[in-house]
Amino acid sequence: MTFKSRQAIRLSDGRELVYFNEEAQVHRAEYPDTRQLPPPPPTSQLRYDPLIDEWVAVAAHRHTRTFLPPSDACPLCPSSPSFASEIPAPDYDVVVFENQFPSFSDRLQPDEITSLTDQVPVRAGVGRCEVICFTSDHNGSFGKLAPSRVRTVVDVLADRTAEMSALTGVAQVFPFENRGVEIGVTLHHPHGQIYAYPTVPPRTQQMLRAAGRYRDRTGRDLYTDVLAAERAAGVRVVASNEHWTAYVPAASRWPYEVQLAPHRKVPDIPALSDEERDAFGPLYLDVLRRFDALFGKPMPYISAWHQAVVGEGRELGYLHLQLFSIRRAADKLKFLAGSESAMGAFVNDVVPERAAKTLRSL
Ligand SMILES: [Zn+2]
Repeated sequence: MTFKSRQAIRLSDGRELVYFNEEAQVHRAEYPDTRQLPPPPPTSQLRYDPLIDEWVAVAAHRHTRTFLPPSDACPLCPSSPSFASEIPAPDYDVVVFENQFPSFSDRLQPDEITSLTDQVPVRAGVGRCEVICFTSDHNGSFGKLAPSRVRTVVDVLADRTAEMSALTGVAQVFPFENRGVEIGVTLHHPHGQIYAYPTVPPRTQQMLRAAGRYRDRTGRDLYTDVLAAERAAGVRVVASNEHWTAYVPAASRWPYEVQLAPHRKVPDIPALSDEERDAFGPLYLDVLRRFDALFGKPMPYISAWHQAVVGEGRELGYLHLQLFSIRRAADKLKFLAGSESAMGAFVNDVVPERAAKTLRSL
């Protein structure tokens, strides 16, 4: 399964929405947005922290965003006669739209962009933030999707990655899903987000430096060598199929963390073959079921697609999915406290080999 048709509309405030339909003969674009929305807020400021060498986005308007609405007022459900949501059509398969409260957009407010001090340059947070709804079923979850729908979602992410990578000034496209109120999710409806960053995020910079150093030292490719070593060792592998391996990183930071890696090194989702896209869903759904089975209740998680950057360093990047949870026991969450938050130094009290063995056994 993939999407057979693609229909784009503008919401009443000018934001773009795209329906990805699994059947060709549906006409969702004919439903207009009947709401009278105010113009979207201007984009965030990027402020450079000279002490840490990092850019920080400051987005004041995000304070007012929707927080856990009742299910009959869910902005991600299809619209009904009694409630106009973000999605005007009465049903959808997969839909993507610009976030109403984006961290990055192309809506500049030039007056705000002034330098604070010589050491702290400021620039506009030019980029794009989208919401992706995986299903119109409010009470569903990604783990309950059919493999055919997961394939559609992968194709939609490929479409979005290609289109957002081509936008002026975009450095990296990052699709992700936050699941569970424990992670800070503000809407229960199954959905993810896609960020098009104007700068290369800190973790990606670290990964590029590591891959570059390894190549300089050995002449070899870091991703290829690490994946081959994990598959040979086997002790941290959770599950695998012909095209993908899911394993717990040897130095994982989180109590339960799994990387899903394609066996062929590719820069991003658009570069995946048909066979690789088809093989992803069954393995990922298997890992999500193991996550939910760990403590007998829905596991809060963050699922993060790491892709190659758009510009310099692209050849060092590699696609993989990082899935991790902050739940370390049935009634215990790992909070990022002093060492992690203040120093960026992680202490993980679940041994990765034990985590892998537990996940394998479920
Ligand atoms: Zn909903």
